[in-house]
Amino acid sequence: EAYSLDAARGALRDVFGFDDFRGIQANVVGRVLAGRSTLAVMPTGAGKSLTYQLPATMIEGTTVVVSPLIALMHDQLRSARANGIAAATLTSADADWRETLDAFRAGALDLLYVAPERASQPAFRELLSSARIALFAIDEAHCVSEWGHDFRPDYRLLRPLMDAFPRVPRLALTATADAHTRDDILVQLGIPAEGLMVAGFDRPNIRYRIAHRDSIVHQLVGLMRSEPGPGIVYAPTRAKVEKLAGQLAAASGRPVLPYHAGLEPGERAANQAGFVASEDMVIVATIAFGMGIDKPDVRFVAHAGIPKSIEAFYQETGRAGRDGDPAQTLMLWGAGDFAQARQRLSEVPEDRRGSERARLDALAGLVETAGCRRAVLLRHFGEDPPEACGNCDNCLEAPGVTDATEIARKLLSA
Ligand code: ADP
Ligand code: MG
Repeated sequence: EAYSLDAARGALRDVFGFDDFRGIQANVVGRVLAGRSTLAVMPTGAGKSLTYQLPATMIEGTTVVVSPLIALMHDQLRSARANGIAAATLTSADADWRETLDAFRAGALDLLYVAPERASQPAFRELLSSARIALFAIDEAHCVSEWGHDFRPDYRLLRPLMDAFPRVPRLALTATADAHTRDDILVQLGIPAEGLMVAGFDRPNIRYRIAHRDSIVHQLVGLMRSEPGPGIVYAPTRAKVEKLAGQLAAASGRPVLPYHAGLEPGERAANQAGFVASEDMVIVATIAFGMGIDKPDVRFVAHAGIPKSIEAFYQETGRAGRDGDPAQTLMLWGAGDFAQARQRLSEVPEDRRGSERARLDALAGLVETAGCRRAVLLRHFGEDPPEACGNCDNCLEAPGVTDATEIARKLLSA
Protein backbone atom coordinates (compact mmCIF):
# COMPACT_ATOMS: atom_id res chain seq x y z
CA GLU A 1 0.00 0.00 0.00
CA ALA A 2 1.06 3.60 -0.42
CA TYR A 3 1.95 5.84 2.48
CA SER A 4 1.75 9.57 1.89
CA LEU A 5 4.06 12.25 3.19
CA ASP A 6 0.95 14.04 4.46
CA ALA A 7 0.17 11.08 6.66
CA ALA A 8 3.80 11.17 7.78
CA ARG A 9 3.43 14.83 8.80
CA GLY A 10 0.38 13.85 10.78
CA ALA A 11 2.33 11.16 12.59
CA LEU A 12 5.21 13.60 13.14
CA ARG A 13 2.81 15.83 15.05
CA ASP A 14 0.69 13.19 16.74
CA VAL A 15 3.40 10.69 17.74
CA PHE A 16 6.48 12.86 18.16
CA GLY A 17 4.95 16.28 18.82
CA PHE A 18 7.11 18.05 16.22
CA ASP A 19 5.76 20.74 13.87
CA ASP A 20 8.08 20.10 10.97
CA PHE A 21 10.70 17.83 9.55
CA ARG A 22 14.27 19.07 9.85
CA GLY A 23 16.77 19.14 7.00
CA ILE A 24 16.47 16.07 4.81
CA GLN A 25 14.27 14.09 7.22
CA ALA A 26 11.25 14.52 4.93
CA ASN A 27 13.18 13.24 1.91
CA VAL A 28 14.51 10.25 3.80
CA VAL A 29 11.12 9.37 5.27
CA GLY A 30 9.55 9.81 1.84
CA ARG A 31 11.97 7.35 0.29
CA VAL A 32 11.50 4.83 3.07
CA LEU A 33 7.71 5.04 2.78
CA ALA A 34 8.08 4.45 -0.97
CA GLY A 35 10.02 1.27 -0.17
CA ARG A 36 13.33 2.54 -1.54
CA SER A 37 16.57 1.58 0.23
CA THR A 38 18.52 4.56 1.45
CA LEU A 39 21.77 5.59 3.10
CA ALA A 40 21.21 8.80 5.05
CA VAL A 41 24.32 10.71 6.07
CA MET A 42 23.37 13.35 8.62
CA PRO A 43 25.48 15.03 11.30
CA THR A 44 25.12 14.08 14.95
CA GLY A 45 22.01 15.63 16.43
CA ALA A 46 20.32 16.04 13.05
CA GLY A 47 17.59 13.57 13.98
CA LYS A 48 18.43 10.29 12.30
CA SER A 49 16.33 8.12 14.66
CA LEU A 50 13.13 9.78 13.57
CA THR A 51 13.70 8.73 9.96
CA TYR A 52 13.08 5.09 10.87
CA GLN A 53 10.94 5.48 14.00
CA LEU A 54 8.33 7.47 12.14
CA PRO A 55 7.95 5.03 9.22
CA ALA A 56 7.96 2.23 11.80
CA THR A 57 4.73 3.59 13.24
CA MET A 58 3.14 3.76 9.77
CA ILE A 59 4.24 0.73 7.78
CA GLU A 60 2.58 -2.56 8.59
CA GLY A 61 4.97 -4.95 10.31
CA THR A 62 7.99 -4.53 12.56
CA THR A 63 11.00 -2.35 11.86
CA VAL A 64 14.17 -4.20 12.81
CA VAL A 65 16.83 -1.79 14.07
CA VAL A 66 20.46 -2.85 14.25
CA SER A 67 22.47 -0.78 16.69
CA PRO A 68 26.02 -1.36 17.94
CA LEU A 69 25.64 -0.64 21.66
CA ILE A 70 23.24 -1.85 24.33
CA ALA A 71 23.31 1.57 25.97
CA LEU A 72 22.27 3.22 22.70
CA MET A 73 19.48 0.71 22.24
CA HIS A 74 18.10 1.29 25.70
CA ASP A 75 18.17 5.07 25.22
CA GLN A 76 16.21 4.64 22.02
CA LEU A 77 13.83 2.22 23.67
CA ARG A 78 13.06 4.72 26.42
CA SER A 79 12.39 7.59 24.05
CA ALA A 80 10.35 5.45 21.64
CA ARG A 81 8.18 4.16 24.47
CA ALA A 82 7.81 7.67 25.85
CA ASN A 83 6.21 8.54 22.50
CA GLY A 84 3.88 5.58 22.82
CA ILE A 85 5.62 3.47 20.19
CA ALA A 86 5.54 -0.30 20.69
CA ALA A 87 9.26 -1.07 20.97
CA ALA A 88 11.49 -3.75 22.45
CA THR A 89 15.14 -4.73 22.60
CA LEU A 90 16.66 -8.18 22.36
CA THR A 91 19.95 -7.93 24.23
CA SER A 92 21.80 -9.91 26.86
CA ALA A 93 20.71 -7.25 29.36
CA ASP A 94 17.00 -7.92 28.84
CA ALA A 95 14.94 -10.27 31.03
CA ASP A 96 11.72 -10.02 29.01
CA TRP A 97 12.76 -12.07 25.98
CA ARG A 98 9.70 -14.30 26.02
CA GLU A 99 7.29 -11.34 26.02
CA THR A 100 9.30 -9.68 23.27
CA LEU A 101 9.30 -12.78 21.07
CA ASP A 102 5.58 -13.29 21.61
CA ALA A 103 4.82 -9.67 20.82
CA PHE A 104 6.98 -9.82 17.71
CA ARG A 105 5.34 -12.99 16.41
CA ALA A 106 1.93 -11.47 17.06
CA GLY A 107 2.90 -8.47 14.94
CA ALA A 108 2.48 -6.16 17.93
CA LEU A 109 5.89 -4.46 17.75
CA ASP A 110 6.69 -1.37 15.69
CA LEU A 111 10.38 -1.46 16.60
CA LEU A 112 12.69 -4.31 17.50
CA TYR A 113 16.28 -3.36 18.42
CA VAL A 114 19.08 -5.92 18.15
CA ALA A 115 22.86 -5.98 18.15
CA PRO A 116 24.61 -7.10 14.94
CA GLU A 117 25.97 -10.22 16.67
CA ARG A 118 22.43 -11.38 17.37
CA ALA A 119 21.02 -10.25 14.04
CA SER A 120 23.51 -12.38 12.15
CA GLN A 121 22.55 -15.65 13.90
CA PRO A 122 20.48 -18.24 12.01
CA ALA A 123 17.94 -18.34 14.84
CA PHE A 124 17.26 -14.65 14.32
CA ARG A 125 16.67 -15.12 10.61
CA GLU A 126 14.16 -17.82 11.49
CA LEU A 127 12.48 -15.50 13.95
CA LEU A 128 12.14 -12.81 11.31
CA SER A 129 10.48 -15.31 8.98
CA SER A 130 7.72 -15.77 11.54
CA ALA A 131 6.26 -12.28 11.18
CA ARG A 132 6.06 -9.33 8.81
CA ILE A 133 9.12 -7.06 8.55
CA ALA A 134 8.47 -3.43 7.61
CA LEU A 135 11.99 -2.07 7.34
CA PHE A 136 15.60 -2.82 8.20
CA ALA A 137 17.24 0.18 9.89
CA ILE A 138 21.00 0.01 10.37
CA ASP A 139 22.15 2.67 12.81
CA GLU A 140 25.81 3.75 12.96
CA ALA A 141 26.17 2.11 9.56
CA HIS A 142 29.85 3.12 9.21
CA CYS A 143 30.56 0.12 11.48
CA VAL A 144 30.17 -2.04 8.35
CA SER A 145 33.20 -0.48 6.71
CA GLU A 146 36.87 -0.98 7.37
CA TRP A 147 37.29 2.59 6.15
CA GLY A 148 35.24 3.80 9.08
CA HIS A 149 36.64 4.33 12.53
CA ASP A 150 34.54 1.69 14.32
CA PHE A 151 34.68 -1.42 12.17
CA ARG A 152 32.46 -4.19 13.54
CA PRO A 153 32.87 -7.42 11.55
CA ASP A 154 29.37 -8.63 12.48
CA TYR A 155 27.87 -5.76 10.48
CA ARG A 156 29.14 -7.62 7.41
CA LEU A 157 26.69 -10.44 8.14
CA LEU A 158 23.70 -8.11 7.88
CA ARG A 159 23.73 -8.16 4.10
CA PRO A 160 23.04 -11.92 3.83
CA LEU A 161 20.32 -11.57 6.46
CA MET A 162 18.65 -8.71 4.59
CA ASP A 163 19.11 -10.45 1.24
CA ALA A 164 16.89 -13.21 2.62
CA PHE A 165 14.10 -10.60 2.77
CA PRO A 166 14.47 -8.94 -0.60
CA ARG A 167 11.20 -7.01 -0.46
CA VAL A 168 12.04 -5.23 2.78
CA PRO A 169 13.63 -1.79 2.26
CA ARG A 170 16.86 -0.88 4.04
CA LEU A 171 17.70 2.38 5.74
CA ALA A 172 21.33 2.85 6.79
CA LEU A 173 22.25 5.83 8.98
CA THR A 174 25.55 7.44 9.81
CA ALA A 175 27.16 10.78 10.62
CA THR A 176 30.41 9.78 8.92
CA ALA A 177 31.05 12.10 6.01
CA ASP A 178 34.02 10.35 4.45
CA ALA A 179 33.27 9.49 0.83
CA HIS A 180 35.11 6.15 0.82
CA THR A 181 33.25 4.93 3.87
CA ARG A 182 29.95 5.92 2.33
CA ASP A 183 30.59 4.12 -0.93
CA ASP A 184 31.67 1.08 1.03
CA ILE A 185 28.51 1.17 3.17
CA LEU A 186 26.36 1.17 0.03
CA VAL A 187 28.15 -1.90 -1.30
CA GLN A 188 28.33 -3.79 2.00
CA LEU A 189 24.65 -3.28 2.76
CA GLY A 190 23.38 -3.69 -0.78
CA ILE A 191 21.90 -0.21 -1.17
CA PRO A 192 21.87 1.29 -4.68
CA ALA A 193 24.06 4.35 -5.24
CA GLU A 194 20.98 6.46 -6.01
CA GLY A 195 19.90 5.82 -2.42
CA LEU A 196 22.58 8.07 -0.94
CA MET A 197 21.21 11.16 0.79
CA VAL A 198 23.56 13.63 2.42
CA ALA A 199 22.70 16.90 4.06
CA GLY A 200 23.01 19.23 6.92
CA PHE A 201 26.77 19.67 6.87
CA ASP A 202 26.73 23.40 6.24
CA ARG A 203 27.81 25.64 9.12
CA PRO A 204 26.74 29.01 7.77
CA ASN A 205 28.08 31.02 10.73
CA ILE A 206 31.63 29.82 10.06
CA ARG A 207 33.75 31.98 7.76
CA TYR A 208 36.39 30.11 5.77
CA ARG A 209 39.69 31.71 4.84
CA ILE A 210 42.64 29.92 3.27
CA ALA A 211 45.84 31.83 2.62
CA HIS A 212 49.42 31.27 1.66
CA ARG A 213 51.70 31.28 4.69
CA ASP A 214 54.17 34.14 4.46
CA SER A 215 54.53 35.57 7.93
CA ILE A 216 52.73 33.14 10.16
CA VAL A 217 52.95 35.04 13.46
CA HIS A 218 51.88 38.26 11.79
CA GLN A 219 48.97 36.55 10.06
CA LEU A 220 47.76 34.81 13.21
CA VAL A 221 48.10 37.92 15.36
CA GLY A 222 45.98 39.72 12.77
CA LEU A 223 43.30 37.08 13.24
CA MET A 224 43.60 37.32 17.05
CA ARG A 225 43.19 41.11 16.91
CA SER A 226 40.06 40.85 14.80
CA GLU A 227 38.66 38.15 17.04
CA PRO A 228 39.14 38.66 20.80
CA GLY A 229 37.20 35.54 21.82
CA PRO A 230 38.62 32.07 22.50
CA GLY A 231 40.47 30.39 19.64
CA ILE A 232 42.34 27.24 18.65
CA VAL A 233 45.47 27.22 16.48
CA TYR A 234 46.43 23.80 15.15
CA ALA A 235 50.12 23.22 14.49
CA PRO A 236 51.63 20.09 12.97
CA THR A 237 54.21 19.07 15.62
CA ARG A 238 54.80 19.40 19.35
CA ALA A 239 57.88 21.53 18.72
CA LYS A 240 55.92 23.90 16.50
CA VAL A 241 53.12 24.07 19.07
CA GLU A 242 55.59 25.17 21.77
CA LYS A 243 57.36 27.69 19.57
CA LEU A 244 54.22 29.22 18.12
CA ALA A 245 52.52 29.49 21.51
CA GLY A 246 55.47 31.52 22.81
CA GLN A 247 55.60 33.72 19.72
CA LEU A 248 51.87 34.44 19.73
CA ALA A 249 51.80 35.24 23.43
CA ALA A 250 54.67 37.69 23.02
CA ALA A 251 53.32 39.32 19.86
CA SER A 252 49.68 39.58 20.85
CA GLY A 253 49.73 40.13 24.60
CA ARG A 254 46.82 37.69 24.89
CA PRO A 255 46.77 34.53 27.05
CA VAL A 256 48.13 31.70 24.88
CA LEU A 257 48.83 28.15 26.08
CA PRO A 258 50.21 25.05 24.36
CA TYR A 259 48.51 21.65 24.24
CA HIS A 260 49.99 18.39 22.98
CA ALA A 261 50.41 14.79 24.07
CA GLY A 262 53.97 15.43 25.29
CA LEU A 263 52.93 17.76 28.11
CA GLU A 264 52.77 16.53 31.70
CA PRO A 265 49.25 15.15 32.23
CA GLY A 266 48.63 17.74 34.94
CA GLU A 267 49.65 20.66 32.75
CA ARG A 268 47.71 19.30 29.81
CA ALA A 269 44.54 18.98 31.86
CA ALA A 270 45.04 22.44 33.40
CA ASN A 271 45.54 24.07 29.99
CA GLN A 272 42.46 22.39 28.63
CA ALA A 273 40.33 23.32 31.64
CA GLY A 274 41.67 26.88 31.47
CA PHE A 275 40.68 27.12 27.84
CA VAL A 276 37.20 25.73 28.37
CA ALA A 277 36.55 28.25 31.16
CA SER A 278 38.14 31.21 29.39
CA GLU A 279 36.55 33.93 27.32
CA ASP A 280 39.72 35.10 25.61
CA MET A 281 42.32 32.33 25.67
CA VAL A 282 44.04 30.98 22.58
CA ILE A 283 45.27 27.41 22.67
CA VAL A 284 47.97 26.26 20.26
CA ALA A 285 47.61 22.53 19.86
CA THR A 286 48.26 19.41 17.87
CA ILE A 287 45.19 17.66 16.51
CA ALA A 288 45.10 15.68 19.76
CA PHE A 289 43.18 18.68 21.07
CA GLY A 290 39.49 19.09 20.56
CA MET A 291 37.94 15.66 20.66
CA GLY A 292 35.31 15.58 23.31
CA ILE A 293 35.79 19.22 24.22
CA ASP A 294 32.46 20.90 24.58
CA LYS A 295 33.06 24.64 24.25
CA PRO A 296 30.33 26.31 22.24
CA ASP A 297 31.90 29.80 22.10
CA VAL A 298 35.17 29.07 20.26
CA ARG A 299 35.43 32.12 17.99
CA PHE A 300 38.17 30.97 15.66
CA VAL A 301 40.08 27.91 14.53
CA ALA A 302 43.31 28.36 12.58
CA HIS A 303 45.55 25.84 10.87
CA ALA A 304 49.26 26.67 10.82
CA GLY A 305 49.83 24.10 8.09
CA ILE A 306 47.50 21.88 6.08
CA PRO A 307 45.13 19.45 7.80
CA LYS A 308 45.17 15.78 6.82
CA SER A 309 42.12 15.86 4.61
CA ILE A 310 38.93 17.77 3.87
CA GLU A 311 37.19 15.61 6.47
CA ALA A 312 39.78 16.58 9.07
CA PHE A 313 39.49 20.23 8.04
CA TYR A 314 35.72 20.11 8.41
CA GLN A 315 35.90 18.41 11.79
CA GLU A 316 38.60 20.70 13.18
CA THR A 317 37.08 23.95 11.90
CA GLY A 318 33.73 22.63 13.07
CA ARG A 319 34.84 23.25 16.66
CA ALA A 320 34.35 26.97 16.01
CA GLY A 321 31.02 28.67 16.54
CA ARG A 322 28.94 25.84 17.89
CA ASP A 323 26.80 28.48 19.59
CA GLY A 324 25.73 29.66 16.13
CA ASP A 325 27.39 33.08 16.49
CA PRO A 326 29.83 34.21 13.79
CA ALA A 327 33.18 32.42 13.89
CA GLN A 328 36.35 32.56 11.79
CA THR A 329 38.63 29.94 10.37
CA LEU A 330 41.98 30.47 8.71
CA MET A 331 44.14 27.83 7.06
CA LEU A 332 47.72 28.94 6.37
CA TRP A 333 49.36 26.65 3.86
CA GLY A 334 52.77 26.44 2.27
CA ALA A 335 53.81 24.63 -0.89
CA GLY A 336 56.13 22.54 1.25
CA ASP A 337 53.13 21.10 3.13
CA PHE A 338 51.80 19.48 0.00
CA ALA A 339 55.23 18.41 -1.21
CA GLN A 340 55.85 16.68 2.12
CA ALA A 341 52.44 15.07 2.18
CA ARG A 342 53.00 13.74 -1.33
CA GLN A 343 56.37 12.38 -0.31
CA ARG A 344 54.81 10.60 2.65
CA LEU A 345 52.45 8.82 0.26
CA SER A 346 55.31 6.52 -0.68
CA GLU A 347 55.31 5.17 2.89
CA VAL A 348 51.60 4.39 2.79
CA PRO A 349 50.79 0.70 2.12
CA GLU A 350 50.04 0.24 -1.54
CA ASP A 351 46.40 -0.76 -1.16
CA ARG A 352 45.64 2.54 0.56
CA ARG A 353 47.88 4.81 -1.45
CA GLY A 354 45.33 5.59 -4.13
CA SER A 355 42.72 6.74 -1.67
CA GLU A 356 45.25 8.72 0.37
CA ARG A 357 46.33 10.47 -2.80
CA ALA A 358 42.70 11.22 -3.59
CA ARG A 359 42.28 12.76 -0.13
CA LEU A 360 45.26 14.97 -0.68
CA ASP A 361 44.07 15.99 -4.14
CA ALA A 362 40.68 16.88 -2.72
CA LEU A 363 42.32 19.06 -0.08
CA ALA A 364 44.50 20.71 -2.74
CA GLY A 365 41.30 21.42 -4.66
CA LEU A 366 39.88 23.26 -1.67
CA VAL A 367 43.06 25.30 -1.27
CA GLU A 368 43.39 26.03 -4.99
CA THR A 369 39.86 27.02 -5.81
CA ALA A 370 39.09 30.56 -6.93
CA GLY A 371 35.44 29.83 -6.30
CA CYS A 372 33.42 29.45 -3.13
CA ARG A 373 35.21 27.40 -0.44
CA ARG A 374 31.96 26.31 1.14
CA ALA A 375 30.67 25.04 -2.19
CA VAL A 376 33.79 22.88 -2.60
CA LEU A 377 33.48 21.62 0.96
CA LEU A 378 29.79 20.76 0.77
CA ARG A 379 30.07 19.21 -2.68
CA HIS A 380 32.79 17.00 -1.25
CA PHE A 381 30.23 15.77 1.27
CA GLY A 382 27.69 15.10 -1.46
CA GLU A 383 25.55 18.18 -1.01
CA ASP A 384 24.41 20.44 -3.81
CA PRO A 385 25.21 23.94 -2.49
CA PRO A 386 24.71 27.32 -4.15
CA GLU A 387 27.62 28.68 -6.22
CA ALA A 388 28.56 31.36 -3.69
CA CYS A 389 28.10 31.50 0.09
CA GLY A 390 29.12 35.10 0.72
CA ASN A 391 31.02 34.03 3.84
CA CYS A 392 34.38 32.75 2.64
CA ASP A 393 37.45 34.64 1.46
CA ASN A 394 36.84 33.98 -2.21
CA CYS A 395 33.24 35.15 -2.05
CA LEU A 396 34.15 38.20 0.00
CA GLU A 397 37.20 39.25 -1.99
CA ALA A 398 36.16 37.99 -5.39
CA PRO A 399 38.15 40.38 -7.63
CA GLY A 400 41.51 39.92 -5.95
CA VAL A 401 41.94 36.18 -5.90
CA THR A 402 43.25 35.41 -9.36
CA ASP A 403 46.93 36.04 -8.66
CA ALA A 404 47.08 34.01 -5.48
CA THR A 405 45.27 31.18 -7.20
CA GLU A 406 47.70 31.23 -10.11
CA ILE A 407 50.61 30.99 -7.71
CA ALA A 408 48.90 28.23 -5.79
CA ARG A 409 48.25 26.27 -8.94
CA LYS A 410 51.90 26.44 -9.96
CA LEU A 411 53.15 25.46 -6.54
CA LEU A 412 50.67 22.65 -6.06
CA SER A 413 51.23 21.04 -9.44
CA ALA A 414 54.96 20.73 -8.76
P1 ADP B 1 21.15 11.69 15.59
O1 ADP B 1 20.91 10.22 15.75
O2 ADP B 1 21.08 12.14 14.17
O3 ADP B 1 22.39 12.17 16.27
P2 ADP B 1 18.75 11.91 17.15
O4 ADP B 1 17.91 11.01 16.34
O5 ADP B 1 19.26 11.37 18.44
O6 ADP B 1 19.95 12.48 16.30
O7 ADP B 1 17.92 13.26 17.40
C1 ADP B 1 18.48 14.36 18.03
C2 ADP B 1 17.40 15.20 18.69
O8 ADP B 1 16.63 15.90 17.71
C3 ADP B 1 16.40 14.39 19.49
O9 ADP B 1 16.19 15.03 20.72
C4 ADP B 1 15.15 14.41 18.65
O10 ADP B 1 13.98 14.28 19.42
C5 ADP B 1 15.24 15.77 17.99
N1 ADP B 1 14.49 15.85 16.72
C6 ADP B 1 14.54 14.96 15.71
N2 ADP B 1 13.75 15.35 14.68
C7 ADP B 1 13.19 16.53 15.05
C8 ADP B 1 12.26 17.43 14.41
N3 ADP B 1 11.78 17.20 13.18
N4 ADP B 1 11.91 18.55 15.09
C9 ADP B 1 12.41 18.78 16.32
N5 ADP B 1 13.27 17.97 16.98
C10 ADP B 1 13.66 16.85 16.36
MG1 MG C 1 21.71 8.42 16.45
